[in-house]
This record gives sequence, structure tokens and C-alpha cells, in this order.
Amino acid sequence: MQIFRKYKIPLITLLIFTLIGLILWFFRDIKYFILFISIGLLDSSTRIIIEKYPKLRQISRRLLQLFLAGLLFGWLGLYIGVNFQFPEIFFDFSAGIITGALIQLLVSRIVLPFFLGNAFCSRACWNGAFFELINSKTSCKKKPKKRSNFIAWGYLIFLIIFSFSVAFFWNPAGNLELRRYWIIGENLFIISCGLILTSIWGSRAYCRMLCPFLTISSIIAPYSIFKITPVKADDCISCNLCNLACPMLIDVMTYVHNKERVNNRTCILCERCVSACPENVLRIADKIPNLNNSRVIIKR
Ligand code: SF4
Ligand code: SF4
Ligand code: SF4
Repeated sequence: MQIFRKYKIPLITLLIFTLIGLILWFFRDIKYFILFISIGLLDSSTRIIIEKYPKLRQISRRLLQLFLAGLLFGWLGLYIGVNFQFPEIFFDFSAGIITGALIQLLVSRIVLPFFLGNAFCSRACWNGAFFELINSKTSCKKKPKKRSNFIAWGYLIFLIIFSFSVAFFWNPAGNLELRRYWIIGENLFIISCGLILTSIWGSRAYCRMLCPFLTISSIIAPYSIFKITPVKADDCISCNLCNLACPMLIDVMTYVHNKERVNNRTCILCERCVSACPENVLRIADKIPNLNNSRVIIKR
């Protein structure tokens, strides 16, 4: 029981990926099972390493992110031609195909957010991996702009109309060469957009302000079982380091002072705030522990 409590997140993650893999095997193909069980094993192994060696938290997560981003974008995207971009959902839908983008939407934006919020963004997104590499070099000098639901939802609606219009006149869904060009073109657009917006609006501006995938999973993220949790809020020394570390510009310290879990729609569970905290106040958990009755030693 103790071991289950300690490794609850990796075990639950592995179980979820196994179930998703089995369902997709049943409805589609065994290759989906192999893909999802592999991702589940990698993700849960990383979480076990982090549990045992907390100092390796960020390096382990970044290695996982680079590997999964390379697998999804490099191998599945560019080599095999599976397109995971948002407009592809509508291209495939118009062509009557159920493939990469739609499955990605269901798994990473509708199923997983009930357990781990927007964690896909900090562990598997190839654009996110790039933004993480360049973020500190593109920070804006002005006060960062806060997320606007009007802009985020407006962009999502624009993308849906745009994608259906493209699909109507020139649908690349059934043509491997066209798909590849689309994948390269759209990712170059996202990266350029991200670089420009980050220098104007601040950290991870494309992710915070525009990304349609985050807009969708942000509806479910507040109901996520696991969230960033102040497990020792009374130890907080108000140093503000968690806020400075957060790429999504979330006011983590206020959540800690209010003894609340970080119930923010845009939290990507990157755990940078956890790593930055000198007092080990934060961690990913399913509830705030009752420290009076708890004998569990919390490690950072
Ligand atoms: S917000 Fe969008 S671009 Fe940013 S990491 Fe998440 S899925 Fe990727
Ligand atoms: S609150 Fe923490 S886990 Fe969430 S995005 Fe900010 S730094 Fe990452
Ligand atoms: S980094 Fe830790 S101690 Fe500092 S303000 Fe945040 S929660 Fe409090």
C-alpha cells in the first residue's frame, strides 16, 4: 500500500496509457497499443526517477519531452506522414478519415486532462520543446500580456473556419506529399509566431494566448485529479521563486498563500515551480495532505 501511495502517479499514468492503447487496438490497430504502451512506460519511468531523485526532475522531463517530441514530430509526422496539427482534424473529418490529429485531440486534450491537466504540453509537444529551448532568449522587456479568452477562442474559431475552407478547396488529407508540406509549413508558422509573440507579449506567448489545443484542454484542466499542490504551505517564505520560474506566468505564490491547489487552466504541469521552491512546498498531488495526521515525508 505504501509503495502504491508513493508511486501513485506513475502507476495511474501507465494504467491510463495501457487502457487507451487497448481501446485503440480494439477499434483500430495493434500499432496504437504499441505506441501508447511505450509512451506510458517512458512517462511512468521518468516519474519514478523523479520520485527517487528529485534533483533530476527537470532534466528527466526535458529528455522525455525531447524524445516524445522527436518521436511524434520527426518519426510519425515527417517520416510516416501522420499530421497532428489542429487543422488536420478538419481535413481528416472532411475526408472521412480518423487518424493522428483526431486521436491526439481525444487522448491528449480530452481524456488525459481529467488526470494530468495540460501535461502533454510539458512532456510531448514538439513546439513546446522548442519554445522551452528558446524562451529565456526571447523574453519581452515590457510587462507580459495576460491570457485573453477572447483572443484564444477567437483564434480557435478562426482556425476552424479556415481549416474547413482549405479542406473544401484543397484537402491534403489523402496525399502524403501534401501532408508533409503542410506539417512543415504549419510548424514553421507556429514557431515564427511563437518567437515574435513571446518577444512582445512575454513567456510562451503562443501557448498562453493562441494555441487551440491548450484552449480545448483548458476547459477540462481545472477538473484534473493531479495538480500542483502546496503540500507544506506553512513553510512558504514568500520568495516569489515559483512565480519567476513559471513559463505560463501563473501566480503560484498566491495559490500557496491561500492554501489552494494551482487550479489554473493554463498550467502545463512542467513542475518548474516545484524545482524552484527552496522550501519544498510544492509537488504534483491529488489533494492537499492533512499534515497533522500524516507521517509521510515529502521529498522535493
Ligand atoms: S500550448 Fe500548444 S504549442 Fe504550446 S506546448 Fe501546448 S500544445 Fe504545444
Ligand atoms: S504553475 Fe508550475 S507546473 Fe504549472 S506551468 Fe507554472 S511552473 Fe509549470
Ligand atoms: S518558491 Fe516556495 S517558498 Fe518561495 S514563494 Fe513559492 S512556494 Fe513559497
